[in-house]
Amino acid sequence: MNLGILGGGQLGRMIALAGYPLGARATVLEPGTNSSAGQVCAHLPGEFDDLQTLYKLAQASDVVTFEFENVPVGAARWLAERVPVYPPPAALEVSQERLAEKQFFQRLGIPTPPFAAIETEADFRAAVAEIGLPAVLKTRRFGYDGKGQAVIRTPQDADAAWQKLGGRPLILEGFVPFDRELSLVAVRGRDGQIVTYPLIENVHQDGILHRSVAPAPDLGEELSERAAEFAARVLTELNYVGVLTIEWFQEGARLLANEMAPRVHNSGHWTIEGALTSQFENHVRAVCGLPLGRADAVGCSVMYNFIGSVPPTEHVLANPDAHLHLYGKGPRPGRKVGHVTLRAASAAELHEKLPEWDAQFARGPQ
Ligand code: AMP
Repeated sequence: MNLGILGGGQLGRMIALAGYPLGARATVLEPGTNSSAGQVCAHLPGEFDDLQTLYKLAQASDVVTFEFENVPVGAARWLAERVPVYPPPAALEVSQERLAEKQFFQRLGIPTPPFAAIETEADFRAAVAEIGLPAVLKTRRFGYDGKGQAVIRTPQDADAAWQKLGGRPLILEGFVPFDRELSLVAVRGRDGQIVTYPLIENVHQDGILHRSVAPAPDLGEELSERAAEFAARVLTELNYVGVLTIEWFQEGARLLANEMAPRVHNSGHWTIEGALTSQFENHVRAVCGLPLGRADAVGCSVMYNFIGSVPPTEHVLANPDAHLHLYGKGPRPGRKVGHVTLRAASAAELHEKLPEWDAQFARGPQ
């Protein structure tokens, strides 16, 4: 099976690596000569909207998937006329636009923070009055890792936020005083089978994922079931195939959907060592039309991102519980260059070891 992947970053790399044992060989389309995924599989250099390059990818692939959600929807649709593309381009379209995404959740009865569409300054002033402060102003498109956002706590902040972001389509959201952030990774096969990983607890720093713990500690069964049921609604509605991730705010017993990513997700990297089947393997299985594997956690895991630079390998591996993943990317501030996962036999053991592991790996953004 030849698997085409739009995007050649670390997610594409880990999808490609997961494909080998299943006999799937990957080709990634990625601009430029440097590709994290291109180091471990075939690399087709070119722009995502260049028809000649897309044609070459279609020729080289039995099925095409993508590893980042800002792939032009037109490119995905063009490819879908020539070769199966999973997840469906419609999922890409919904997740690229924050307003459409929130309205989609709302239509499916999935709770979200309060939000309002903003085009003009008058809309903005009216929305601030209606939603109240604090609030978050976000660009509707091309926001990721906290970029294109401004938190508004005071009327002065409102002026500054409008100065910074005004003039393009925006969304204003009520600021959720969440207890914690969670994510849910779920996968749907071509035959409609759905498998859901346990909820994950995520800590962000400067808008970038810093640490994930899975299964999230102190979860009631009810919360897990509700999140899985919400994800199933999204997957079914979109006739989705592949891995989908939904990010949540937990506020008491409430779950509010923040956003969804139609792809494998950074908060699911722990599944490589910490689940019976990794998110990457299950994504390959799904898009290739194969039966899905079990998503149960094996013990409890923590994953730390390395942002900007990676500590020396021998320092990381001096901890015998550490599983290091390097992405083959050069150091650069704010860039995800690798991660480490550590697994404990139980929640109690993880709780006991976490302070020591935090001290070793929780370095914050570099
Ligand atoms: P996003 O790009 O929308 O995932 O936002 C990045 C981070 O900003 C989130 O992971 C939250 O920590 C924070 N954030 C975004 N939206 C809100 C909100 N409505 N209320 C509180 N925090 C938010």
